[in-house]
Amino acid sequence: MSTTLDLARPKAAATAEPLNLSGLTRARIAAALVEAGVAPAAQARMRAGQIWGWTQHHGVTDFAAMSNIAKETRAALADHFVLDRPQIVERQQSVDGTTKWLIRFAPGIEAETVFIPEVGGGTGALCVSSQVGCTLNCTFCHTGTQALVRNLTAAEIVAQVQVARDDLGEWRAAPGQRRLTNVVFMGMGEPLYNLDSVAEALDIVSDDQGIAISRRRVTVSTSGVVPKLTELGERTNAMLAISLHAVTDELRDVLVPINKAYPIADLLAGIRAYPGLSNARRVTFEYVMLKGVNDSPAEARALVRLLASIPAKINLIPFNPWPGSPYECSSGNRIHAFADIVNAAGYASPIRTPRGRDILAACGQLKSESEKVRASARRGTATGG
Ligand code: SAH
Ligand code: SF4
Repeated sequence: MSTTLDLARPKAAATAEPLNLSGLTRARIAAALVEAGVAPAAQARMRAGQIWGWTQHHGVTDFAAMSNIAKETRAALADHFVLDRPQIVERQQSVDGTTKWLIRFAPGIEAETVFIPEVGGGTGALCVSSQVGCTLNCTFCHTGTQALVRNLTAAEIVAQVQVARDDLGEWRAAPGQRRLTNVVFMGMGEPLYNLDSVAEALDIVSDDQGIAISRRRVTVSTSGVVPKLTELGERTNAMLAISLHAVTDELRDVLVPINKAYPIADLLAGIRAYPGLSNARRVTFEYVMLKGVNDSPAEARALVRLLASIPAKINLIPFNPWPGSPYECSSGNRIHAFADIVNAAGYASPIRTPRGRDILAACGQLKSESEKVRASARRGTATGG
C-alpha cells in the first residue's frame, strides 16, 4: 500500500461519521470490522454473526448489551461504530389504529412508514418507503408530486422495520404473537428503481435468524417497470403487486405515465414471466377507484377479461384524497357494482378498506417535506421539520 494512501486514510476517518451497523448485512459488518482493525480477518465472520444476531434478532442498540462478546471487544466496537436508529420526527396514530412515522434518515432526507394492524387473520402490515419522493408522476398519487430526493439505502429500509418493532415492543414477542407479520413496499417511491437496496433489505428482514419475515409475506408493488420484473423475482422471491389502475393504454398513459414506456400488453407479458407465479403465488393487481374516470361496469368487465389467463388477485383501492388532488373517490355504490363484477369472475373480497385516512397515512397519501437542495442551502434550513 502506498504512503499516500496511508496518510489519506486517517484524515478521511476523522471527518466521517462512525458507521452505523444496525441495518447492515453480515458481510458488510465483517468487512467494516476488518477495515477498522476491530477483528482480524479470520475472526470477522464469527464476530459479525454475533453482532448481526444482536441487532436483527434482539433489536439491541447498545454494544454493552452483547453479553457473548468480551468486554474489551465491546468497548472497541463502541469506539468505532454506532447502533443508531434514525430520528422519528413525527408519530401519528389514526382512530383505526394505523400508525404513521415520519422518519429522518439524514438531514433533509425524510420518508414515511405506516403500520396497518389486523389486515386479516391476526396479521399486520408495515408499509415501507423505498425512495424519498418518486421520479414518476402518477396523477392520483401524493408522492408523485414530490420530486425524487434520493434512493433509500438497504439499511434505511431495514431501519423502518426496526423502528416499527421498537414501537410495537415486538423484539421479544414469540413469532405467533407478533402483530407486524407482513411488509409491503407500498410507501413512497418506486421500488424497482432502487432494486439493489430493496433486495438487500429483503435479504435482511427475511433472514430466519433475524427479523424473520418470510418472503411470502413481503409484497413489492410497482407501477410497472417491466424490464426489472424478472430480476425482482429472481433476486427477492417476493410477492408481486402491480399498480394497474386502467384497462386501456389511453387512460393508463395519463394515470400511470410510465405506461407510455411499457404499455399494458408489455406489462402483462412481463408479469406472466414473473418467476414463481402460480395459483399459490398470485400477482395482486391494484386498481384505484376514481370517480367517473376508471370506475364503470364496462371497465370492470374489461379488467376481468384482461387478467383472465394470469393467476391474479384484484385489489380495488378507494381513492384516498390529498390536499389539492385532482380526483374524487368513486361512490360506494359504484365501487360495489365494480366489485360485484370482479367477484362474479371469481376474485374474492377485492375492496381494500382505506386505513389511516385521517392522518394521511393511506395508500398514495404519503409525502415528506424533503426536497433536493444543495448541501449548503440545507444547512441553513436543517431546523425545519
Ligand atoms: N410506486 C409503487 C409503490 C407505492 S404506491 C407503485 O406505484 O406501485 C402503493 C399503491 O398505492 C399503488 O398501487 C399506488 O398506485 C396506490 N396509490 C397511489 N396514490 C393513491 C391514492 N391517492 N389513493 C389510493 N391509492 C393510491
Ligand atoms: Fe411513484 Fe407509485 Fe406514486 Fe406512481 S403511485 S408516483 S410510482 S409512488
